[in-house]
Amino acid sequence: MPGAARGSTDPRKWGRVRLRLAPGDEVEAPTYESVGGRLLKILYSTRCRMDCRYCPFAVFCRRARSIWRREKLVRTVLRATREGSIRGLFLSSGLYRDPEDVTLELVETVEELRARGYTGYVHVKLMPGAPGWLIKRALESADRVSLNLEAASASSFSEIAPSKGRWSSDLYGRLLLAAEYAQSPAKVSTQLVVGAGDDTDREIIMLTWLLHRDGVGVVHYSPYTPVPGTPLAEKKGPVSPLRTGLLYEASRLLRDYGYEPRDFEPLLDNGDMLPVTTRSLKEELARAHPEWFPVDPARAPLWELLRVPGIGPRTASRIVEARSRGERITPQLLARLLGSARFRRAAPFLDLGQRHLPLRDPLRG
Ligand code: SF4
Repeated sequence: MPGAARGSTDPRKWGRVRLRLAPGDEVEAPTYESVGGRLLKILYSTRCRMDCRYCPFAVFCRRARSIWRREKLVRTVLRATREGSIRGLFLSSGLYRDPEDVTLELVETVEELRARGYTGYVHVKLMPGAPGWLIKRALESADRVSLNLEAASASSFSEIAPSKGRWSSDLYGRLLLAAEYAQSPAKVSTQLVVGAGDDTDREIIMLTWLLHRDGVGVVHYSPYTPVPGTPLAEKKGPVSPLRTGLLYEASRLLRDYGYEPRDFEPLLDNGDMLPVTTRSLKEELARAHPEWFPVDPARAPLWELLRVPGIGPRTASRIVEARSRGERITPQLLARLLGSARFRRAAPFLDLGQRHLPLRDPLRG
């Protein structure tokens, strides 16, 4: 059977299910522990006509190739779901035929699953250049669609994936079309292979901000890992998950906290990269922007509260709600709303009408 969909690099999260579909008909398939539960993670075909420089399934790689039959894949998903082995399906494929044909095959597989009563989660991959009518069909049957941008710019993309299509129109443009049709950011995602090309963190942060602004809810950052036998492996070393961890944090700050790319400028080094740090990126931003503080919790708008370390979207909303109920925003109230650990992180950045804020926990007297 074909291998797993590429891109999820944490080996601890991978597993396998073994299923008996009928006497003498057994199947084994890869699974992946996602945030919402275990997914059957399938490459419909490991055959691919493309020559992406980093990919073990590229046309130049010598390996055994295989392709699922739709009926077998559908029965596998239904059986694994009935047995409680998975909570959903992630379906992708190598480009073994024209991208439109491959996307249609994946979408029809999902439609077949739905027609046979499958109600579980489905994430389906769109191929570069997928036409609008097919993107709409994918969104009707899947819970989430994605189209991997792989790189943050057309020039970087052409270096690492020279035959996979035109970055601007076949990838970026189609991804935005999916976001427009979906009208729900949670339904659309993409992935970058960080460090395969020469994109800087500055470029990735700008692209991420644009994507979130235009309705792409989730950007995945896969740290580049050299695969022996691929051309890029001779030129580039592995990328630390610390870098992709920072980018995930930046993405959350851009999407959920209202930060803008220019806010990150003071943190970038000469090479336009974020610093490797043990502090949270939000705290680094707070220290790099003393002009933002102190924030007055009795009056500050929500977006200003969100810049304070220790205050997240939920707690910022609680503070605003307490104010609208007419409650006085005292250190005691804040400690209750935030919890004592978060309050201690927030306190140095807040103005509570005192020159120097108490660093002891006011809940404890
Ligand atoms: S299109 Fe590129 S990344 Fe996708 S399977 Fe083929 S070679 Fe790999």
